[in-house]
Amino acid sequence: MKEFQLIRQIQQQTSAALANASDAGVSVGIGDDAAVLEVPAGYQLVAATDTLNAGIHFPTDTPAFDIGYKCLAVNLSDLAAMGAVPRWALLSLSLPQAGSDWVQSFTDGFSSLAQRHGVSLVGGDTTSGPLSVSLTALGIVEPGKALQRNAAKAGDVLVVSGTVGGAAYALAQLQAGKAVQERHLLDRPQPRVRLGRALAGFAHACIDISDGLLADLGHVLRASACGARLELDKLPASDAMAQLDDETRWNYQLAGGDDYELLFTLPPQHESMLAKLRRQLDIRLSVIGEIEAQEGCRCTAPGGMDYDPVKSGYEHFQQIP
Ligand code: ADP
Ligand code: MG
Repeated sequence: MKEFQLIRQIQQQTSAALANASDAGVSVGIGDDAAVLEVPAGYQLVAATDTLNAGIHFPTDTPAFDIGYKCLAVNLSDLAAMGAVPRWALLSLSLPQAGSDWVQSFTDGFSSLAQRHGVSLVGGDTTSGPLSVSLTALGIVEPGKALQRNAAKAGDVLVVSGTVGGAAYALAQLQAGKAVQERHLLDRPQPRVRLGRALAGFAHACIDISDGLLADLGHVLRASACGARLELDKLPASDAMAQLDDETRWNYQLAGGDDYELLFTLPPQHESMLAKLRRQLDIRLSVIGEIEAQEGCRCTAPGGMDYDPVKSGYEHFQQIP
């Protein structure tokens, strides 16, 4: 296929998936030199971009559908962590060969998520080269409401959505040639867009977990100039991880990446807000620790003992049952 045929296929498939295209705020979409978008009065534009390279950000045998899904999911997760409403996306594709079937599945995966969140694909770039997908997501937020990393305060509780460590565990099983029980956690993360919106203007600090809980918590703590205590027995685990011994499970939960859950801090009077969020969003929200004035992150094992994940070699994922 020629480049323009590919672009046309992507355009037709993605616009067919969006029922309410006229409400999409797109004055000029795919087909001109650049898109022209309408940011509603009283909102700020929020922009995020992420690249996925084959063999690095996803296993080379990942189905095209899942690559299309995931490139949007990881960017919507960034918008969610800012408390933004996703609106538009730009897609840069580098493809080894221009296969119509591959593009069809890729676009189906992309559209399945774009449709759910009302995201319009408004432009991009298509080149030949090693498989690589770069997506830019644009969203909107009310001025002053964007959630940032630098707003955690001593006394806040630390909350995480969903479960953590499951994607890293699935990847480790895959790499070890074992049966993977929860591959959806790796290939189809659920961006927590509704949660981010509910937290905007209320939560203190927020980040999405892409590099692992400890690493991303570290970003919040440094930006906010404070520390935290984590209670290991409160870390939420997926079903497949229940079979792991405590220490192995903690290692995945603390250091695994690709969770795309939201990690946020709430002021001490948080109980009614948490109960309301759980009820309205039907989502698992776990209080896993507390923000403290003393810098650094301290982990408590069940029974109150201090646990040092660095000394325990958390970066190694050798133990795969
Ligand atoms: P230009 O040479 O002016 O950059 P292109 O020929 O690269 O234009 O692209 C033509 C149109 O198709 C542009 O509107 C561009 O945004 C869009 N486009 C190109 N590739 C993609 C893609 N992978 N996904 C969505 N839109 C694309
Ligand atoms: Mg171009």
